[in-house]
Amino acid sequence: MRIAIASGKGGTGKTTVVANLAVHLKNSKHSVAVADCDVEEPNLHLFLNPHLDIEKTAVVPIPEVDNELCTGDDCGLCAQLCRFKSLILMAGEVMVFPELCHGCGLCTLACPEKAITEGSRAIGVVRSGKANCIPFTEGEMKIGEAMAPPLIEEVKAASPQCDIELIDCPPGTSCPVIKALDGVDFAVLVTEPTPFGLHDLDLAVLTLRQLRIPFGVVINRDGMGNSCVHDYLNREKITLLGAIPHSLKAAQAYSKGLLHVGNVEGFDDHYAKLWENIQQSIGEARS
Ligand code: SF4
Ligand code: SF4
Repeated sequence: MRIAIASGKGGTGKTTVVANLAVHLKNSKHSVAVADCDVEEPNLHLFLNPHLDIEKTAVVPIPEVDNELCTGDDCGLCAQLCRFKSLILMAGEVMVFPELCHGCGLCTLACPEKAITEGSRAIGVVRSGKANCIPFTEGEMKIGEAMAPPLIEEVKAASPQCDIELIDCPPGTSCPVIKALDGVDFAVLVTEPTPFGLHDLDLAVLTLRQLRIPFGVVINRDGMGNSCVHDYLNREKITLLGAIPHSLKAAQAYSKGLLHVGNVEGFDDHYAKLWENIQQSIGEARS
């Protein structure tokens, strides 16, 4: 079962929830794996301190043009077909912009002169290992790289099969999030009880409804801000899976790099209840 932990905006505590939920599940003898798909800024490792012993370079295919075979101005088909404008015809020669290429392979297939072959371009790395017996996978994009979705796909493919797989999604609602959400059974949206939190939660809710993925919401740092998120959930009939309280002790543990589960009084119960509610919501979605 794949469960995505997502949020409409960064800084809501999404990764904190992934780390604590994973440890709660492991302590409860569940078979659980985690995959950090926030490849632009992976930070789950800061909470779980994994030993990562496998590292693989992730690549995407890019076209390589043989100018001896290309008929240039007499053709131009590849430049016409590429919807991402990764190829242009200039002064009779095809120029490739690898950073824009999505690796769809259309130009290679379409070239009538067989002048295009597939090369490759590194976009980042995928690392795997274990965090205190929990299988851990993460991806990290190269600096300046813009193509997160193919790397996210590789992270998900590299994550070992367990009964429960928690996916730490990138924040927001753009293409990387859609790729991270692809194929999940359930999503947990983490938000904070503020107008900013509500604004971005609403976008995330619209996205999940569009994708027809069942979901519920966790309010992190509940007690600060105002009641706008609670009111919104009631109005929209969205399940509140859990409310993690705003707590000085939790903030102090966080600042020391400690998990809340096992270190802050009462938080084991919050995560136990959260897992109970997630299971109940998944059951209801399946029935
Ligand atoms: S499709 Fe092939 S032959 Fe035509 S311009 Fe592109 S590379 Fe050249
Ligand atoms: S592989 Fe696809 S995206 Fe890349 S240059 Fe060719 S047609 Fe464009």
